[in-house]
Amino acid sequence: MAALEGGRFGLALSSGMAATDLVLRLLKPGDEVIVGNDLYGGSYRIFTKVYMDYGIKFLFVDLSDLKQVEAIITENTRMLWVETPTNPTLKLADIQALSEIIESYNILHVVDNTFASPYLQNPLTFGADIVMHSATKYLNGHSDVVMGALILNDPDLYQQLRFFYNTCGATPGPQDSFLCLRGLKTLHIRMKMHCENGKIVAEFLRSHPKVEHVYWPGFSDHPGHDIAKAQMRGFGGVVSVVLKNADIEETFRVASGFKIFALAESLGGVESLINHPATMSHGSMPKEQREKVGVVDNLLRLSVGIEDPEDLINDLISVLG
Ligand code: PLP
Repeated sequence: MAALEGGRFGLALSSGMAATDLVLRLLKPGDEVIVGNDLYGGSYRIFTKVYMDYGIKFLFVDLSDLKQVEAIITENTRMLWVETPTNPTLKLADIQALSEIIESYNILHVVDNTFASPYLQNPLTFGADIVMHSATKYLNGHSDVVMGALILNDPDLYQQLRFFYNTCGATPGPQDSFLCLRGLKTLHIRMKMHCENGKIVAEFLRSHPKVEHVYWPGFSDHPGHDIAKAQMRGFGGVVSVVLKNADIEETFRVASGFKIFALAESLGGVESLINHPATMSHGSMPKEQREKVGVVDNLLRLSVGIEDPEDLINDLISVLG
């Protein structure tokens, strides 16, 4: 995994959250972390419900507003946590521009690269210090493993993380490691198909009368499209949609009505999945906070798999009409 990210050191962990937790152990009470305001609900939960109680401050901002990022840096800022593209509304952050902003400060730049996978994006080449992965998703790719990874270049930082790794016990099991290595062998083929099918599904949904909005960084009018073109090698297989005039019950009815898109919280597997962020992946985010970043009750997140695209479109038609 380190080789795929172009990094010198890698640590494989028992889950993506264990990888996040290991990075957060580098912090001390009084430290401040700048975080994008749209991110995986579990990351939000560990920041606000676990590490905040240890005296660490998390400042949530729109990472596309570089001036705002710079304005909130203080002498206590120790970490910048970037997720790009974000889960679930696929916002883009410019990794290189953010690296340049924090360059002259003592701030660790961490990028959660789960959504892009190393096939589409390598944050270390844009100046990130640590790349974090939920290997549960695209790296493994078969929805049968929970695993995480950290990749980095700095030997001292590696030794610090290695100490916590060895001490705290979040190591992966041998069977999961074996399965993840099996998955990695087809990462390039799977990612190509995820990108191709993602495009077909995004374009179909955008033209559908029951759909109000489609989030997909491949659209030229997506606010992060130019960043995606510059720092990614494809637009990925996650597509999020806001259904037109649908309440939460109707949204759930749609989400659970498909034959191929299975209703499940995960993503990045060969089989297509659909998730209702407000009650599933982002259920731990307060309604007010999640709605501010677009995680509304009628939002659905599709993880487009590698099935025949015609079958996927027919499945969408069977429920949406
Ligand atoms: N980061 C992102 C972007 C995720 O989507 C997830 C899980 O959905 C995680 C981290 C956490 O990973 P895991 O489920 O492997 O603990």
